[in-house]
Amino acid sequence: MTLRDKMHAEQKGKALFDQARDYAFNYADNAGSRNVFPSSEAMANLEHFVEDMPSGNGDPSDILQQLHRYGSPASVAQTGGRYFGFVNGGIIPVTLAIKWLTDFWDQNTALHLMSPITSKIESVCETWLKQLFGLPEDTVAGFVSGTSSAIFCGLAAARFRICANQSWDFNQRGLNGAPKIRVIAGDQAHGAVIKAVALLGLGLDNIEWVDSDDQGRVIAAKMPELDQSCIVLLQAGNVNSGSFDPFDEICDAANAAGAWVHIDGAFGLWAGGTVQLKHLTKGMEKAQSWSVDGHKTLNTPYDSGILLCADRPALVQALQASGAYLNFSEQRDGMLYTPEMSRRARAIELWAALKYLGTEGVDELVVGLHRRAVQFAEELGAAGFSILNDVVFNQVVVSCDGSDEYTQSLIDAIQQSGQCWVGGSVWQGKKVIRISVCSWVTTQEDVSISVEAFITARAAISGK
Ligand SMILES: *Cc1c(COP(=O)(O)O)cnc(C)c1O
Repeated sequence: MTLRDKMHAEQKGKALFDQARDYAFNYADNAGSRNVFPSSEAMANLEHFVEDMPSGNGDPSDILQQLHRYGSPASVAQTGGRYFGFVNGGIIPVTLAIKWLTDFWDQNTALHLMSPITSKIESVCETWLKQLFGLPEDTVAGFVSGTSSAIFCGLAAARFRICANQSWDFNQRGLNGAPKIRVIAGDQAHGAVIKAVALLGLGLDNIEWVDSDDQGRVIAAKMPELDQSCIVLLQAGNVNSGSFDPFDEICDAANAAGAWVHIDGAFGLWAGGTVQLKHLTKGMEKAQSWSVDGHKTLNTPYDSGILLCADRPALVQALQASGAYLNFSEQRDGMLYTPEMSRRARAIELWAALKYLGTEGVDELVVGLHRRAVQFAEELGAAGFSILNDVVFNQVVVSCDGSDEYTQSLIDAIQQSGQCWVGGSVWQGKKVIRISVCSWVTTQEDVSISVEAFITARAAISGK
């Protein structure tokens, strides 16, 4: 049998897909009850993957079996409801089912000509997001892998626009001798923002840092004088405290000066799509670009980042320096709005999430995460832990009033309990525990079980 014959038979027989489905369901059924972080046995079993690359064809069923047997237990059970590390979201079931279906389509989203359906769905998502967030009519969306990539695109558009306003075609003339660009950022700006500044050649030493308050919000009164050479970097959702910068005031000043404002709202921008938490993002629609993830707060599968930009010409020109040889259509050609050409059809999962939730569901989901975070803070506070932030969104910063070493051993003990997973961070110079409630799966009971894990871990290390 030739390789091709084999693959034909595997495709037609479908047994492989039944096998994968059985494993997937088995995984899903256990995700809520197993250790959140892989056990030491599961970690040791990862050595099974270390082998020379085979010379002959493998057996597909064996390959699947190996991955489920040794791979599934070594995954982090972040779909289970008690994973509070970093800012990682859960998955809404219909978005996962849609992902399965569209995996069979294997669409390339670069051009309308390559996938009319994906082009259409991207247009619909763009319109819905614009409406949900109340953004300007001209706003366009690029569907990228994550917020890091989205920030990069937003700042590339900003750089293009600021230079173009001074008759400098950045694509043609580049950095050498280009007009000076000032970068204004809060001192709590996310690492992904800083990375984009570096990648785009704007220079970290050129950043004019602005002081933030005790919640990590930029202090508007500390903003420097702005002008039309400025890119102002604000955030919706501080990665530790979840706080929001004062967009209204700063955007007004920036717009009066002709500056460009980018709002990094990887997880926090979704507050702007709710009724109950919308006040947090007041004035955000006055910015020029925004970055947000589907895979965090909205609970779409990975990877799903979105760049929204109110200046279409700047974005399209910044990302499409040499697109002239391609035949673009009258329809939406997705690659105009992204750095990539070939791309998977990730917007379809985003569409499914938005269509399933509706505006009311977005409100219920996002506010639900906030409520669980508030519950966390209340129960931990009652148990004698200190909560260092105002829990305005889904993030809780916890201190146990000990040395940094003590805090680290508490984090280790909580993680090793397997009951929940929380990470560490540094807040105002001190080691802290950071909780991020990001999954629809998390129940009130999950929070209480996790608080118990904190208490048990504290007792265990205090007894040592
Ligand atoms: C997660 C996050 C990012 C980076 O987003 P990715 O999707 O991981 O690339 C940027 N900014 C903030 C505030 C974040 O929380």
